[in-house]
Amino acid sequence: MSDILEKIRNAGVVGAGGAGFPTHVKFARACEYILLNGAECEPMLEVDQQIASVHTKKLFGAMTALVELTGAKGGIFALKEKYHDAIRNVDAALPAFPKLCRHVLSNSYPAGDEHVLVYEVFKRIVPEGGIPLDVGVVVLNVETLYNIASALEDRPVIEKYLTVAGEVKNPATLKVPVGVSFGEVIGACGGPTVKDWVAVDGGPMMGRLVFDPQEPVSKTTKGILLLPRDHPLAISKGRDMTEMMRLAKIACCHCMLCTDVCPRYLLGHKLRPDKLMRLAAYNSTCEHDAAATEAFLCCECGLCETACIMGLQPWKLNKELKVRMNAAGIKNPHHERPERVNPFREYRLFPVTKLTHRLGLSKYIGRKAPLREEFPSPVEKVVLKLKQHIGAPAEPIVAPGDVVERGQMVAWGEGPVSAHVHSSISGVVRAVEKDRIVVEATTDGRENE
Ligand code: SF4
Ligand code: SF4
Repeated sequence: MSDILEKIRNAGVVGAGGAGFPTHVKFARACEYILLNGAECEPMLEVDQQIASVHTKKLFGAMTALVELTGAKGGIFALKEKYHDAIRNVDAALPAFPKLCRHVLSNSYPAGDEHVLVYEVFKRIVPEGGIPLDVGVVVLNVETLYNIASALEDRPVIEKYLTVAGEVKNPATLKVPVGVSFGEVIGACGGPTVKDWVAVDGGPMMGRLVFDPQEPVSKTTKGILLLPRDHPLAISKGRDMTEMMRLAKIACCHCMLCTDVCPRYLLGHKLRPDKLMRLAAYNSTCEHDAAATEAFLCCECGLCETACIMGLQPWKLNKELKVRMNAAGIKNPHHERPERVNPFREYRLFPVTKLTHRLGLSKYIGRKAPLREEFPSPVEKVVLKLKQHIGAPAEPIVAPGDVVERGQMVAWGEGPVSAHVHSSISGVVRAVEKDRIVVEATTDGRENE
């Protein structure tokens, strides 16, 4: 492994914008281009656009190192046209970096889906069930590239940028220690503005509901969106599969609107959510039907629900089907390489403004979430999950009572697909559990500022 990849691995860098794929693994094969994903297409999140605007030169340095490492033809910064500050700063820095350029994306959802992004930038279609590297591209999230830049300075991933928005007094984009609780982060933003609230971990489309304020921030937490507990979005996210399928049997009119907007279907993949809903409505053991394997092609972007006039959730069915098929040892049989996209694709791109309105989030738009790089209050305790990434959990290498320094490795990511975990504060290890390590600050936390 090269020095650069070793540094990335040692720092515990994982994809900061999604499932947390260990980053060093992404560069195991040669690539033609490195593509920076600055779409951040979920409404209300502002992390990547602000990092791209404020830390432009740091990103350029890391991208240049990666282009040289991989022998790629170049690095491309893909940003949405509405991120004016980031585009201005990227354009100002570009002339000094002949192998780098930028691409401007429209304000549609899900522009940040890797398959969609690769098509928008290169007009190449990633095969069904494939990854961008299958067409020569490695895609990196903006914050992931920022963490790579820090790793090259031997600084591990111990902090996380996230946007706190919705029903909170002072929306902000904060840099917080990994492992701090959602409750403390919300408190740092002035607290909630409604009594009965629920948090969404991530964006409103793909984020999951969090009810416990003690939930720790992980390396992949991109946002904390506070909603009233009776907000339609919170209700639909909380609806269980049984109830959703009961509604589907009654209400699905097979209109195909879900399929019409599906970004993977529009790329030419054989994913037809309307058909899967029909199967499920009439066959409770649909995971044994070969057609159900189309669910493997779903990226769970949730757009099918937004388009559905009956408020049904094909993405939820697909997610459930994948779990059941994986448990049954059924593999994805779909690996076609479409030669062309759906001819209506460009007319069916879904504008984010329309999406925001449909989600009932318009009242929160326009409230800026300015960047604050210092966490405002002392952190007394962090809870470090051993699995903040795809792959095997990290193995603890500390024991209760051990004194640890900020940035010290506390869990080792064994094997090709795993990631190390480091302590985000100086303190004493109070507990080592099956899935987490708890560290308490030895003072009132001021040493960590
Ligand atoms: S959009 Fe809704 S009602 Fe129409 S086919 Fe899809 S799930 Fe059924
Ligand atoms: S979540 Fe829905 S719209 Fe998105 S890829 Fe899956 S089926 Fe298509």
